[in-house]
Amino acid sequence: MLSARVRWMCGWSLPLFSFFLFVPNLAAQAIRLHVDLTDAPRNIYHAHLQIPVHAGETSLVFPKFIPGNHRPSGPIGALTGIRMEAASHSLSWQRDPVESYEFHVGVPKGVDTLDVALDAITAQDSAGSGGPAASSNLLDLNWNAVVLYPKGARSDEVNFVPSVTLPAGWKFGTALEVASSHGDDVEFAPVSLTTLVDSPLIAGVHFRKIELTKPGETPVHVMDLVADADADLAMMPEDFAAFQKLVAETGDLFGARHYRHYDFLLTLSDPVGHHGVEHHESNDSATSERMLLDPDVHMLNADLVPHEFIHSWNGKYRRPAGLATPNYQEPMIGDLLWVYEGLTEYLGTLLAERSGLWTDEQYREQLALTAAELDHETGRNWRSLEDTARSVQMLRFGGAQWRSWRRSLDYYPESQLIWLEVDAIIRQQTHGQRSLNDFCRRFHGGENGPPKVVTYTFDDVVRTLNEVAPYDWTTLLRERVDATSTHAPLGGIERGGWKLVYNDKPNAFTHAEEQLAHFANFSYSLGFSAGEDGKLGDVIVGSPAYQSGMGPGMTLVAVNGRKWTPAVLRAAVKAAQGSDQPIELLVENEQFFKTYSVAYHDGLKNPHLERVSERPDVLGDMLKPLTH
Ligand SMILES: [Zn+2]
Repeated sequence: MLSARVRWMCGWSLPLFSFFLFVPNLAAQAIRLHVDLTDAPRNIYHAHLQIPVHAGETSLVFPKFIPGNHRPSGPIGALTGIRMEAASHSLSWQRDPVESYEFHVGVPKGVDTLDVALDAITAQDSAGSGGPAASSNLLDLNWNAVVLYPKGARSDEVNFVPSVTLPAGWKFGTALEVASSHGDDVEFAPVSLTTLVDSPLIAGVHFRKIELTKPGETPVHVMDLVADADADLAMMPEDFAAFQKLVAETGDLFGARHYRHYDFLLTLSDPVGHHGVEHHESNDSATSERMLLDPDVHMLNADLVPHEFIHSWNGKYRRPAGLATPNYQEPMIGDLLWVYEGLTEYLGTLLAERSGLWTDEQYREQLALTAAELDHETGRNWRSLEDTARSVQMLRFGGAQWRSWRRSLDYYPESQLIWLEVDAIIRQQTHGQRSLNDFCRRFHGGENGPPKVVTYTFDDVVRTLNEVAPYDWTTLLRERVDATSTHAPLGGIERGGWKLVYNDKPNAFTHAEEQLAHFANFSYSLGFSAGEDGKLGDVIVGSPAYQSGMGPGMTLVAVNGRKWTPAVLRAAVKAAQGSDQPIELLVENEQFFKTYSVAYHDGLKNPHLERVSERPDVLGDMLKPLTH
């Protein structure tokens, strides 16, 4: 998520969408960009750019730091077939020897337009998620993968006239405004590069547009869905009502909207990469094909759309100064991702419940699992939460092995716990008169209107919190973000009138994940999870399995002399309760076998929240919808 760097000063903001300021000259100065998407099922997009230039040495750049990814994830390795021409003569170009996202070309005298052809291979570039961007039936076009622009230009000040050719008969959704269309050819109204990169397009043979707007409401909200089969698009009446309620809840929570219209772009497909990327006037969410049909898949993914929608306020409109850069080559500074992503994570899960996409119990099960995962993450002893944000490009694809020791993108889930604590403190300090809802209205509200960016710093967050409820927020937040600690911050759950407990009853989310992904989770008992083939994912440092010498990547073969299955291991863990005999695990480690003795006698452990009756149910108050 990003646009243009604004040097922040108190109370000062700058509309980044110069589209609104320079409309009359826009088309004349614009780069024309046509993307031929007819090869999408083969995961290659063909682009042709006509770039206004002056004679002499010209440098063009490919977007590197991608908004929403918070890192240098521009898919430069997938950029292929680059050819440059001027006045029908081929020109030779050179990549910069140091900066691989930069290209140099000499433009002959008398030439004012450079023709550039390029192809984007999208087999591993689904909006930075690593999976394919297209399948046989649908595609996701993120324009940053098919553009070059003049080096040094501000993305607000480079203008584009984008157009596409779709596979025959496919329909599309995007927040861009259509200028004209003829059959499968569509031209869009001129936009700045900022708006272009902020406005992905999805298309598919199986397409559905659902109006979420109630009669007389503005702005308009629609959901555009593409899927691998028509049957996947069948939205239940409960979900339709929940998405409508989600829109209404954000209206009451924030008090203003910073978009002219909003498109929920939802891709339902198993073959493509799954992701959620926020934008000002849309969000690009891709998830499992049966998300609207299968209750377990629905539960596991229900907070995706609320999360990305909330980003329109928290991340796109209000943005940390370090993430508001003038173009896509400028490095991003992610120190405040615990607000950008973390507060969004807190609000996204909360609004999944308030809108009815989750039940109260599902919300609590998800919160319990998040708390348990973080409380067992031993890497928190050496790595602060802030360091997980600064390390985003290293941790994004870190893999499962030693994950608990390395930590992951914890500024998402751990910040959910931090903002839960902040919400609980506000409610306690003000005797229930105020809450984080009041913070959101002050921080993210303001005037209704088109997209703009208002940057902020840590001090602005603290100042607004103090306006809502005076407290030593600086000490609390710096402690939570900067310090290392043995345990996860569970103060919000405790102040909320609940506690984290473990018992042998399966956690709803873990159970659903185990069924769908075919693995067994013993993280909170033995200290590992294992696939059906016995392959160990992570082994938690300090856990009984770790103490016995086991490690990630080994393969579980037998339990107490019997062939491993999840059921056999569960039975062994139960049997070891009250016994002094260790559990004997035969394990293969790359062709070599060894038996490990795991001294564990505390039974199966699955996380849940349990009510503390002597405290008020503050968490219950948090879950109450704002609209009726
Ligand atoms: Zn996010």
